[in-house]
Amino acid sequence: MASTSTFLPPASALEHLKSYKQPDGLSLRSLVDSQAHGGLTYNDFLVLPGHINFPASDVSLESRITKKTVLKTPFLSSPMDTVTETEMAIAMALHGGMGVIHHNLPPAMQAAMVRAVKKFENGFITEPMVLSPTNTVADVWAIKEKFGFCGIPITENGKLNSKLVGIVTGRDVQFRPNSAALSTVMTTDVVTANAGVTLEQANTILRDSKKGKLPIVDGEGRLVALLARSDLLKNKDYPLASKKPESKQLLCAAAIGTRGPDRDRLRLLVEAGLDVVVVDSSQGNSTFQIDMVQWIKKEFPDIEVIAGNVVTREQAAALIVAGADGLRIGMGSGSICITQEVTAVGRPQGTAVFAVAEFARQFGVPVIADGGISNIGHIAKALALGASAVMMGGLLAGTTESPGEFFYNEGKRLKKYRGMGSIDAMNAGTVKGGAATADDVDNAATSRYFSEGDAVRVAQGVAGAVPDKGSLRKFIPYLYTGLQHSLQDMGTRSIVEMQEKAYSGELRFELRTASAQLEGGVHGLHSFEKRLFSS
Ligand code: GDP
Ligand code: GDP
Ligand code: 5GP
Repeated sequence: MASTSTFLPPASALEHLKSYKQPDGLSLRSLVDSQAHGGLTYNDFLVLPGHINFPASDVSLESRITKKTVLKTPFLSSPMDTVTETEMAIAMALHGGMGVIHHNLPPAMQAAMVRAVKKFENGFITEPMVLSPTNTVADVWAIKEKFGFCGIPITENGKLNSKLVGIVTGRDVQFRPNSAALSTVMTTDVVTANAGVTLEQANTILRDSKKGKLPIVDGEGRLVALLARSDLLKNKDYPLASKKPESKQLLCAAAIGTRGPDRDRLRLLVEAGLDVVVVDSSQGNSTFQIDMVQWIKKEFPDIEVIAGNVVTREQAAALIVAGADGLRIGMGSGSICITQEVTAVGRPQGTAVFAVAEFARQFGVPVIADGGISNIGHIAKALALGASAVMMGGLLAGTTESPGEFFYNEGKRLKKYRGMGSIDAMNAGTVKGGAATADDVDNAATSRYFSEGDAVRVAQGVAGAVPDKGSLRKFIPYLYTGLQHSLQDMGTRSIVEMQEKAYSGELRFELRTASAQLEGGVHGLHSFEKRLFSS
């Protein structure tokens, strides 16, 4: 008769289990062995869990996204005209990521967007707007209209480095006639601080004075800089913000093409304060791009250059030699993209990210997984494969901060989202018009796909719409917290640790069959509501 008594393993076996560390599943290298099972996308695999002995909130998502740029949040927004303009770039930087302003618009307009991002937050404002006592209330309103602020120091000659004689703020000009001279409305007993104070000291004086602005003056009473109280609040409200350590200005990136006129475009962007330039091309391994990267590194050595796009080691090698500080990976994986269908060229994104990341890390060049990110799991997988950050288009389109207006279709609130290789975007010159010639604008969208000289415009993207996702103020914290939970489940406290464990073979993976993928989604319900987060 079979025994019904409980099986008890010997004590020595339990002792052995305490330090059990036999690898299960696959190492990263076996996972991405494309000779064994073809190219992988994010949906084709999962990461196996590790040991948790820390809260998710302890997980650091800090990441180096170019040789010199470190972000607290590994999120970038795509340089697309339905994704990143001023508002998106400000919101991305405030939340610890970075926005890449698109270039499907005249250079001066793109530069104005960069300038607006750089002006949004400051430590010492070293080039504040200044007026003179003979300027009028109307001049203050004009500045308010153009730049959004109206706290303005008044100096003898209306310029910086001239004697400070007063200050005007919104309340000084409210209810006053436009023609009134500022000498009649300005406050003259101004609380100031002396040049040479540290930012901490100046902030303390500003806090204690309960004023909105603190002009900084030199020994002779000449204005040299300004401090704004609202910046103290911004600093408190956005502890992860991506900022220049010295100026406290938000980091800003922008895209350019690879052709001659793009050099003039870049000059304007650099003048506006640009930190990182993305050389935007669907196939990065071209003479145009190699020349452009070399030229930028020589002309503007302080600007970090992200080159791309690439999906192979050979493409990456050419751009690393040219001087790229970061690489953008993806060809045909974008949600609006039809490149693989049209050209038969591209690579499944998971395999592309691993191949390029593994190669580029030997040269200290971080890589960015661009396109095909449609949920937090995809972000986690891109990072586990070796990417330092992800670039998102579709996932961020349809937020309050993306360009364009919401509209309704069949009761759903939507925003337009289109590929930069869509006919719609390539024709945008006639829509955006503005001060530039149609050629300027046209060049940007078509040159990304090397098609500016074609008699027939061949689309490599589609135009569509995405649902309203609310504001980035909630959406980015959702992505951030979700990603922290993902790394916690893997038993890793940071992106750096996760990548070390992935590359050493300690972090394990599993391929998913088609039915495993079905199992991993919601199934078997009559109906359900998919709410992604609440806050
Ligand atoms: P933090 O830890 O991110 O605030 O950066 P630091 O340690 O460099 O801060 C140095 C000082 O600058 C502290 O007094 C901060 O409160 C202050 N600070 C940081 N960001 C800003 C800003 O955007 N504007 C102003 N006015 N002060 C800032
Ligand atoms: P204001 O009271 O109308 O001047 O506006 P706030 O103080 O609320 O906001 C001013 C914001 O604009 C701060 O974040 C400043 O860092 C930023 N800013 C950038 N350049 C300037 C400038 O030249 N003058 C002023 N007043 N603010 C500037
Ligand atoms: P998503 O995040 O929506 O999946 O993909 C965004 C990425 O797709 C962009 O960052 C860019 O690299 C790429 N992309 C944007 N527009 C087009 C297009 O029209 N065609 C192709 N092939 N790729 C595009």
